[in-house]
Amino acid sequence: MSTPSSFGTHHEQVVFCHDEASGLRAIIALYSTALGPGLGGTRFFPYASEADALADVLNLSQGMAYKNALAGLDLGGGKAVIIGDPRTDKSEALLRAYGRFVQTLNGRYFTACDVGTYSADMDVVARECDYVTGRTVDHGGAGDSSVLTAFGVYQGMRAAAQYTWGDTSLAGRRVGIAGVGKVGRHLTAHLVEEDARVVVTDIDSDAVARLVGQHPSIEVAESTEALIAADLDVYAPCALGGALDETSVELLTAKVVAGAANNQLAHDGIGKLVSDRGIVYAPDYCVNSGGVIQVADELDPSGFSFDRAKARATGIFDTTLAVLERAAAEGITTAEAADRQAEQRIREIGRLGQILVP
Ligand code: NAD
Repeated sequence: MSTPSSFGTHHEQVVFCHDEASGLRAIIALYSTALGPGLGGTRFFPYASEADALADVLNLSQGMAYKNALAGLDLGGGKAVIIGDPRTDKSEALLRAYGRFVQTLNGRYFTACDVGTYSADMDVVARECDYVTGRTVDHGGAGDSSVLTAFGVYQGMRAAAQYTWGDTSLAGRRVGIAGVGKVGRHLTAHLVEEDARVVVTDIDSDAVARLVGQHPSIEVAESTEALIAADLDVYAPCALGGALDETSVELLTAKVVAGAANNQLAHDGIGKLVSDRGIVYAPDYCVNSGGVIQVADELDPSGFSFDRAKARATGIFDTTLAVLERAAAEGITTAEAADRQAEQRIREIGRLGQILVP
């Protein structure tokens, strides 16, 4: 990754946080607060360099602005990275030092879990800071966000089915899931319950074995390559980013792609390649927003309500359908349609702050 220019990225604010005693080295980036405080998780990762960490947090915070806007939340886009190995560098002192830095932003940024951080870590951060979501249920938090992430992906998949086949039902459809971690296994349960034919793959054979134990009807593919080349109706990337590249799109037999993984398109040009091949791609950040909807609900003054958050995540069906229809109407890719929809909301709702309420 190249070093990004300091002022060339349109971010509102970037904060470097350093506490020598605890070893904390963190960067918090706020892309936009036009719709409200920036909400996004804290990634704890052993970046090879500070430049890599900065590039990642700038990219991720912009992504959160778009995701939160499209999800209809009154939240802007923010994200944080902590540089280090979470297995060896994480400590109470480091997390609390981090919490104090988040507190200095005085509510402009709300943090949550991401790769390398867990609800229990957010409980520790919250000892120093009022602006934390994704805490454990015991601490009044929303808990594991993968529950509504999977539910939202399922809603997005149903919308893509409606758009593609004129029917929301996935019963009898063959759905391939790559990655059966936290989200993938909840998604499997929704699909099995609807009598879809599920095929899964994961590099973690224990995760696959556990899932087959729970759902004996599912099939297993030996690799992601074998999965995407199999005869599928729907492909759900639920592992890492970059699932759709020239090679995988060429091999893909599925008519619909809808999955949880972030940044599924390996580069911008892939969106066009996908649509040229007649594949309906339900944009990643559109269908995977159930998790942020879940943790955002924790900010409600009345406290977290799973039912209210789930009702809101059900709206991912309508949002996905609107994005797919907009792409068709405007002759653009579905990824471009999602971006336009998000940008429009940031513009239209963000400008309301200009109306003075004395
Ligand atoms: P996870 O780490 O629990 O699960 C990921 C799974 O993918 C693991 O079981 C891992 O073994 C498997 N995997 C990794 N590389 C693989 C490969 N090459 N082939 C097959 N399997 C592979 O993560 P998760 O929370 O389930 O998240 C899955 C994806 O969804 C991630 O991209 C994440 O960023 C995204 N996402 C998650 C949430 C959430 O609430 N958890 C929200 C939005 C987006």
